Amino acid sequence: MIYKYETHLHTFEASACAVNSGEQMAELYSSKGYAGIFVTDHFFNGNSCIPRDLDWAERVKQFCFGYENAKAAGEKLGLDVFFGFEWNYHAMEFLVYGLDKDFLLANPNCDKLKPAKFASLVHQAGGFISQAHPFREAPYIQKQMQYPELSDAAEVINMGNRSADMNRKALEYAEKYSLAKTAGSDIHSTDRFCGGGMAFDHRLTGPRDFMDCVRAGNCELLGDFI
Ligand SMILES: [Zn+2]
Ligand SMILES: [Zn+2]
Repeated sequence: MIYKYETHLHTFEASACAVNSGEQMAELYSSKGYAGIFVTDHFFNGNSCIPRDLDWAERVKQFCFGYENAKAAGEKLGLDVFFGFEWNYHAMEFLVYGLDKDFLLANPNCDKLKPAKFASLVHQAGGFISQAHPFREAPYIQKQMQYPELSDAAEVINMGNRSADMNRKALEYAEKYSLAKTAGSDIHSTDRFCGGGMAFDHRLTGPRDFMDCVRAGNCELLGDFI
């Protein structure tokens, strides 16, 4: 028995580029036999749809709607729904796991930090960073930057990358720096389901279990795009 989890997923409640709601995403993954999903919407420094003129607490509240709607749907469907977010620095993105709304509320303007400061904040709070698609080439990325010293993992399969070569480079990079490996679909729309994510030999007890399994390599990377 394997338990599949999506690790990189966007909802339209918080990501400007996403097409579907958290509820629709939860329904999709439940129908595909996944055990769970991480909702990783673009944070305020990325392609966020949360208005910038609201105060921090209100923005955080709205940011969490995608996750919360997915979670409510997941509870009815028997799908685990965990919180994450995708933090951006000049088109370089960190997928952050193991933290929650309270971390965001307690750290106003953490969208404005330099990567080193942000990473230390995440790690102090017990969070985990996987650098998203570290070798993606796309018009919106002017310069590829990698932060192995700040990362716990690298996203070595991203099904949103345009070529397998970008994933292959990420895999070599993870191996070179002894980083843990994550894989995800980077799904923005229910009609683009591609079967990405990760698989585990048990149902995850929560984000901490996910982090421990990923660190130990006690997991399988899904997606043949490598
Ligand atoms: Zn996006
Ligand atoms: Zn993403």
